[in-house]
Amino acid sequence: MPPFETPSEIDAYRTTPDLAETFRFVEALAAAHPDLLRTASFGRSGEGRDLRVVVVSKGALFEPASVRAAGRVVLLVQNCIHAGEPDGKDACLALLRDLVEDPSFGELLDRVVVLVVPVYNVDGHERRSEFHRFNQNGPVPAGWRANGTNINLNRDYLKADAPETRALLGLLRRWEPDFFVDDHVTDGADFQYDITFALDTTPDVFPATAAWLRDVVSPELVRGASDAGHLAFPGPVFLVDETDPSRGLAFNEDPPHFSTGYMILENRPSLLVEMHMLKDYRTRVTGNYALLRTLLGVLHRDAERLRAANRDADAAATRLGSGGPESPPFPLVIGKGGATTSVPFLGYEYERVRSEISGRYALRYSKAPFNVPIPWESDATVAVSIRPPAAYLIPPPWTEVVDVLTAHGVALRRTTAEWTGTVERYHCSGMRWPSAPFEGRFPILRAGNVERAFGSFGACSVTDETATFPAGSVVVSLAQRLAKVAIHWLEPEAPDSALRWGFFAPIFEQKESGEGYVLERVATERLAAEPALKAEFEERLRKDPAFASDPDARLAFFYDRSPWFAAQRIGEYPVVRLRTLDGVPVTPA
Ligand SMILES: [Zn+2]
Repeated sequence: MPPFETPSEIDAYRTTPDLAETFRFVEALAAAHPDLLRTASFGRSGEGRDLRVVVVSKGALFEPASVRAAGRVVLLVQNCIHAGEPDGKDACLALLRDLVEDPSFGELLDRVVVLVVPVYNVDGHERRSEFHRFNQNGPVPAGWRANGTNINLNRDYLKADAPETRALLGLLRRWEPDFFVDDHVTDGADFQYDITFALDTTPDVFPATAAWLRDVVSPELVRGASDAGHLAFPGPVFLVDETDPSRGLAFNEDPPHFSTGYMILENRPSLLVEMHMLKDYRTRVTGNYALLRTLLGVLHRDAERLRAANRDADAAATRLGSGGPESPPFPLVIGKGGATTSVPFLGYEYERVRSEISGRYALRYSKAPFNVPIPWESDATVAVSIRPPAAYLIPPPWTEVVDVLTAHGVALRRTTAEWTGTVERYHCSGMRWPSAPFEGRFPILRAGNVERAFGSFGACSVTDETATFPAGSVVVSLAQRLAKVAIHWLEPEAPDSALRWGFFAPIFEQKESGEGYVLERVATERLAAEPALKAEFEERLRKDPAFASDPDARLAFFYDRSPWFAAQRIGEYPVVRLRTLDGVPVTPA
């Protein structure tokens, strides 16, 4: 019997270990190989549990500075962000064991340092039940999808509400990993593949990184999985129509509320692993292992290429705002609508039957292979692009908005005196707020494969104006590595902007109004004195029955067209864009 069998191996993959048993295993490895493997805390969960990362590094180089000096690349593997999907954790326990125990793995560590977070969502992980993963073929019991306040951490990367997110962002700041992996289990369709994965290669990914992921990493992961007896599909499987697989695979949006979408803003490549929910747990854990083992080989071989791409991507990010008015367009919103390709797909035969229960078609899968090409919305388009400013300026009262940037490690400066100057300002209108909460907020998100439309985003248009800002206003220069984080948080239309998540909701509220009897007098006077206003009012009465039958709306018509309404500055976005920092009194960089 080999030493250090993982808890799942001992148990023939029927169960997955709890947090204590997971770390008993890891600490036993650490005790046996103190020169190769260590664990460290990177924060605490909402319920006060320790968040731990395992570092595997040759020559006892356990500090980021010494690892960087040795020229190694850093791989970070995150598991159990959805704690009911523990495949990656159990695969990583085996991988950690083999990295330190199996001499044939040793050379991989010459150029790669492996960081593993065995359990990210620790509070969800310890909430164990046999009723957490309805579609999933074990293990039972399994952890819970969300954290201690029922926040899905994989919707929290940019807004960073949860203490776990704040801690993980700190880990990213400390290590600046070169490659990131997030391990999951699917929901959705049935098919032959036990492994599906996604690598972002959309137009917002640094071109050299995207080319390497698409042309090198993706095919090698498929091949490596196959060599180990597994079947991998190089894309996330979301059906265009969940009742009709023949209509093909939908485009996968990856906005930065997701871990991997967020890594685009960090200028780093990432791999999303989605093991197929209906395969048995042994198949899934060993498949996840095979994928990670293959990736390690690629990272070891291509370490120099990866380091160069990351360095160049960081440098490109720091230049995003340097062109001032001539800055090239920045792809802010990525959407579907690109080319649809035909892809060979190893599915299962199915029949579509009219359902008495749902009243629509139901799918009945068989386990007979059904290998046919299907359409795949594989290509993206840039739905919205913007011209980055040199910097953003945030007035001091918006502390929550600033606090999120601080959590991300975005470099911030402050104005040292009151400043008046020309700025670009958005004016926004037409926002419709959702009627139900999402992730504890009431956001206006875009419809995607995972999210549904919530409310609807109106419009924001930008104009030049001269304005005065108090001392202590926050200045966010884009001349920094995390420029894209600032852009995505502060540009209103970005898919996960502070505005969309509701951080600026008060700017859309009307705070003053006119009393009916006062408006009655003002309206009478204005109707007598302003023929154009009178004509507009009468036309509205004729053409808009709802308006005509609403006494308050008829009176408000006159308030809304008055300087008293304009003075409320409803929809005036507080964050402004600066074309230059010249002349702005600001603390040193
Ligand atoms: Zn998941």
